[in-house]
Amino acid sequence: DDVLVAAEGVVKHFPIRQGIVFKKEIARVHAVDGVDLSVRRGETLGIVGETGSGKSTLARCLTGLHPVTAGRIFFEGTDITRLSRAGLKAFRRDVQMIFQDPYGSLNPRRRVGSIIGDPFAIHGLADGAERRRRVQELMELVGLNPEHYNRFPAEFSGGQRQRIGVARALAVRPRLVVCDEPVSALDVSIQAQVINLLRDLQTELGLTYIFIAHDLSVVRYVSDRVGVMYLGRIVESAPASGLYGRPRHPYSAALLSAASIADPDEAARAERIVLTGDVPSPIDPPSGCRFHPRCPKAQDRCTTEDPPLVPRDGDPPDHVTACHFPVEPGEHLARREAGIT
Ligand code: SF4
Ligand code: MG
Repeated sequence: DDVLVAAEGVVKHFPIRQGIVFKKEIARVHAVDGVDLSVRRGETLGIVGETGSGKSTLARCLTGLHPVTAGRIFFEGTDITRLSRAGLKAFRRDVQMIFQDPYGSLNPRRRVGSIIGDPFAIHGLADGAERRRRVQELMELVGLNPEHYNRFPAEFSGGQRQRIGVARALAVRPRLVVCDEPVSALDVSIQAQVINLLRDLQTELGLTYIFIAHDLSVVRYVSDRVGVMYLGRIVESAPASGLYGRPRHPYSAALLSAASIADPDEAARAERIVLTGDVPSPIDPPSGCRFHPRCPKAQDRCTTEDPPLVPRDGDPPDHVTACHFPVEPGEHLARREAGIT
């Protein structure tokens, strides 16, 4: 079939330990707590959520940078959570990441040509003049001047530095690129250039993307399908048009109504719902539906019964929502003192 990556029940907990000798585990951060997803070849799966939703941890699990606590991740049908060291190294060629902070992820004391050439060195693919030629090709591909091969990161603008990150990620011809907030650190005027570059490269090179962001408008522009994350879980997943046109989870609806202030059409349609209160601690997530302490539609059942991520009444099979009482079309969520105002 055409599924490139599939995650089944992925869990990533970080133990918090105390003591010098026995290092007793005193708590666990439930960063990712049971995520299922699949990404088809050539498509972009967007993942949105607030800080602390677990989206970056999920990204690192999917790229093999974090070992998972439980669950399976299939890439081209192979379970990467069970790979040997050598197998993992080969897998890491197929899957690359682009990080949020182009400043932080580039060593300031190294020349960009050598930074972009790292993957060739790591995987023993090219050296000397051949490596230089391929690095310069990559620089051209991402819109950098190949003559700037010997310059240092500080000599480039923020947008150009993200292009350096993109070039480095593409060096080994990956199949999947996981973009973790790739434009969040950039000026708004530069964001569109980098997004357009990523889109052009996707078409040209047949790439599959997982695109992580907290900015709903950016995700909408690039994604075929979108998953919304909350406290380590995906709470709604749908084709972008379905999610943005008819959000079913109260959390998605709240995120969208908060984002729609910038979009006059939607502002007219949706009453703005502002989420207040902090995201609860992932050390001790709420019982039942994790969103219940902040949800305007919460009922008793929500505090005890964890809603499965399934299609809800009338939704197509690819639009799934983890909510006992999904938002109906045209429904205005009641404002509530606690959680949402
Ligand atoms: Fe709100 Fe209940 Fe739905 Fe959770 S299950 S989102 S608390 S209505
Ligand atoms: Mg993050």
